[in-house]
Amino acid sequence: MLTISNLHAETAGKAILKGLSLTINAGEIHAIMGPNGAGKSTLGYTLAGRPGYEVTDGSVTFLGEDLLEKAPHERAAAGLFLGFQYPVEIPGVSNVQFLRTALNAQRRLRGQAELSGGEFLKVARAQADALGLNMDMLKRPVNVGFSGGEKKRNEMVQMGIIDPRLAILDETDSGLDIDALRTVGDGINRIMRAPDKAVLLITHYQRLLDYVKPDFVHVLADGRIVRSGGAELALELEREGYAETVREQAA
Ligand code: ADP
Ligand code: MG
Ligand code: MG
Repeated sequence: MLTISNLHAETAGKAILKGLSLTINAGEIHAIMGPNGAGKSTLGYTLAGRPGYEVTDGSVTFLGEDLLEKAPHERAAAGLFLGFQYPVEIPGVSNVQFLRTALNAQRRLRGQAELSGGEFLKVARAQADALGLNMDMLKRPVNVGFSGGEKKRNEMVQMGIIDPRLAILDETDSGLDIDALRTVGDGINRIMRAPDKAVLLITHYQRLLDYVKPDFVHVLADGRIVRSGGAELALELEREGYAETVREQAA
């Protein structure tokens, strides 16, 4: 599904990703952990094509196509979804308007028929119900005045409506209480656990991985994957911290 080879990327003239390689197959859930400033968010932004993040070397293929040649909206239409560490607020634009516009733009690019207002509301209602988010919230401006937990729930509703092939979720667990964490974990499993989908979960903590069990765990440090293992690696890191792994790598 996704093959990243020797990816180098910089932002604001500073090299952040320094030869990162990672392969994700359909049906797999990968977790990326690592210390602050390692380049985890930069990886997500670079894959999504965020302006200001420049690839200086390496390649990325997504579903058999060159991802880096595509514009951000084409990457999204191809099935890539990025959940933000800090979800943005969009005053004046309701969630319903925003999501229907996004979904229909993607459907147009794929040559699919657009959804009418009524058809869209049915899809939106099903996702909101599944996440325990009141439909009234979907009629409010995107994330404006939402609590941290509501923003993350809303992000899961967005993901459910967009229904991507690959979701990159950047610290989706940050700031969540234990009930919200379970809801978000259930959402990820329900929406994304499928033989033709995959997830890249960026997280500082192992606790989300109690709900969304990863097939692979990778440690990102100083712009590269320095260690990979199974779900047990997250438990080991939680116990022992990153220092040992990062030091061994540097030695
Ligand atoms: P992580 O998500 O692993 O905590 P980031 O990808 O956010 O790390 O950041 C990696 C490094 O890039 C950090 O040292 C950060 O300060 C730097 N960085 C990120 N964005 C910018 C920017 N816009 N300008 C300068 N430095 C940046
Ligand atoms: Mg961080
Ligand atoms: Mg980050």
